[in-house]
Amino acid sequence: MNHCRQCLLRDLADQADVLAQVARTRKMMSETERASDAVYEKRLEVCRACDRLLDATCQKCGCYVEIRALARTAHCPGKKW
Ligand code: SF4
Repeated sequence: MNHCRQCLLRDLADQADVLAQVARTRKMMSETERASDAVYEKRLEVCRACDRLLDATCQKCGCYVEIRALARTAHCPGKKW
């Protein structure tokens, strides 16, 4: 099996349902809870380049990174963001 290290949920066609749930969750969060668009995208860029990313999941914490990065107060378990 081929593992995609640089893939996010948004790149995986079979994860469309999860991605839609992430988008709904993001929309429901208040502005004070939610990371800004710029911060969110920057975090995901860092994850994309990280050797702990596997199939959209952080191997350090087991979270989908698109979910992990949602909250303003969230942090990377590897201290990369
Ligand atoms: S260790 Fe940090 S940068 Fe790497 S995939 Fe996990 S959350 Fe992203």
